[in-house]
Amino acid sequence: EDKMSCQRLTPQTTANLLDSVDAFLFDCDGVIWKGDALIDGVSDTLDTLRALGKKLVFVTNNSTKSRRQYAKKFHSVGISVSEDEIFSSSFAAATYLKVIDFPKEKKVYVIGEEGIGEELQLAGFTSLGGPEDGKKTVQLRPNYSLSMIRVYATLCIRENPGCLFIATNRDAVGHLTDLQEWPGAGCMVAAVCGTTQKEPFVVGKPSTFLMEFLLKKFNIPTSRMCMVGDRLDTDILFGQNAGCRTLLVLSGVTNISDLQDSNNHIRPEYFTDKVSDIIRLFNN
Ligand code: PLP
Ligand code: CA
Repeated sequence: EDKMSCQRLTPQTTANLLDSVDAFLFDCDGVIWKGDALIDGVSDTLDTLRALGKKLVFVTNNSTKSRRQYAKKFHSVGISVSEDEIFSSSFAAATYLKVIDFPKEKKVYVIGEEGIGEELQLAGFTSLGGPEDGKKTVQLRPNYSLSMIRVYATLCIRENPGCLFIATNRDAVGHLTDLQEWPGAGCMVAAVCGTTQKEPFVVGKPSTFLMEFLLKKFNIPTSRMCMVGDRLDTDILFGQNAGCRTLLVLSGVTNISDLQDSNNHIRPEYFTDKVSDIIRLFNN
């Protein structure tokens, strides 16, 4: 019935999708690569989609890198992607501060990696904290420490009513490789929520913030965009909320039984094993 309405991609539906979509929004981890390993067939798929005239955009919740660092990572795996095709949650955080006209003389305290600091700097903001601060004390994970939560986040947010609390993403885990799962930003966000009893403004998926920014930048209606991702509660929801077409790939964190689980209320329009299926089925 309705709940099971998502379909496995077929040659027919692929042809249809390619016909009715002008832009593909790709999630990165679990779709393009897993950690540092490129997923099979991705490079050719992106080339073919570009040759078909499709606009490609990459949207990642992973805030550890800046756009520049992502472009470098893409190049290192043999894929040519320009910085302005990359929408990372680090870039989203800096963009958000720009959009709300956050005063340049104020400071941003970062519990996170280099990528966030770099994006803030490029946007003209001064930041504190970051990886260096995390190395000084008891570590929860490389570069994040309990004192960052205690001293800065908690005191700043709790004691200063004007202090903004911005989360790049709430992903529970990050994947380094197939076998290595690390606590994601969501665990740090949860710690800060716990000590402050405040909720953050989230700039990463599934928040609509990046989508609104994307829409202003590219003159393509969301009905002619397809969000391709491996996570239901970030990627697919992000696409669905905006009225995009959605395609779930099983090359990342979601498997077929997660997808069919009746407790799961987020259903993509289509699903397939991996992105290269798009081209394989199209040529079929
Ligand atoms: N955050 C971290 C720290 C990660 O390691 C990952 C994936 O590995 C993510 C977020 C999710 O990234 P994406 O949105 O590209 O799947
Ligand atoms: Ca992903």
